[in-house]
Amino acid sequence: MKSVLLFLIYLLLSSCNQPIKKATMNKKIVIAHRGASGYLPEHTLEAKTMAHAMNVDFIEQDVVLSKDNIPMVIHDIYLDDVTNVAIIFPDRKRIDNRFYVIDFTFAELKTLQVSERFNPKTGEQVYKTRFPKGKGNFKLHSLQEEIELIQGLNVSTKKNIGIYPEIKDPEFHQKEGKKLTEIVLKILANYGYKTKKDKCILQCFDAKELERIRVELKSSLFLVQLMEFPEETKQLNHFATYADGIGPWYRQILDQKINGKFTFTSLVSDAHQLGLKVHPYTFRADALAEFNSFEEMMETLLIEANIDGAFTDFPDLVVNFLKEKQ
Ligand code: CA
Repeated sequence: MKSVLLFLIYLLLSSCNQPIKKATMNKKIVIAHRGASGYLPEHTLEAKTMAHAMNVDFIEQDVVLSKDNIPMVIHDIYLDDVTNVAIIFPDRKRIDNRFYVIDFTFAELKTLQVSERFNPKTGEQVYKTRFPKGKGNFKLHSLQEEIELIQGLNVSTKKNIGIYPEIKDPEFHQKEGKKLTEIVLKILANYGYKTKKDKCILQCFDAKELERIRVELKSSLFLVQLMEFPEETKQLNHFATYADGIGPWYRQILDQKINGKFTFTSLVSDAHQLGLKVHPYTFRADALAEFNSFEEMMETLLIEANIDGAFTDFPDLVVNFLKEKQ
């Protein structure tokens, strides 16, 4: 049933085989944020298959360890806002009332049903017009399972779509006695992701950890420093000593809106001067905030602000937009 669904999604979306794209970092890239998460529950293999069929450049994986050290693809260290863990294992929450991926074995995690994201306190779906919460038959999966899916699809469709894994909360993992980064790097190397040419971009919010990946662990991968807070823009020079790009919140790029036109901070030009690529998050057609339309958001950031790539929940829209522009 599940494989039939995957196949149907693929047929539906992949109208023709695209020629192999060169592994260049010079064109603007589309990163499927948690897969095609605007259309299917985030970080499911179905959402990744759909993103692959949409001809994105990279598909994102957030990575968290299980109790038995299997790297799982899930956005948070918690389980209770995207699975039915509270129903299946009601006694396994910690004192903060949260259920942690790290407290469950891979086999236990595989018994859970994955759902469209919801608020665990109210049960309410976060993005109301997306895939209905609690419907379908979706499962969690490991990083290895996802790499095999993407690499397999690359073979069968003659594409070269990359992976864009994120090391989640390394400090939390260290406190729990886990070596998340080392485990992930080993798996990436085993699957052929070792250098900047291998269509793998590794990302992390924790600057100390990303620097450690380059300096101590001697990784040659393309590294992107994620940024959350305005004061981090002062550290660009330091980021450039070990990273190849930055992943800021898109609002760090916007300055003011004057007569309907946005002005920009110096973040993109400062980064470009240091040789850093800029891949902001997150382009959501159903959460526009300060923009009147998704078209305006794409035009403003991708063209006017001259960023190098976008994390998006709606990869087909950004792929089509860039096809017209490039
Ligand atoms: Ca992420």
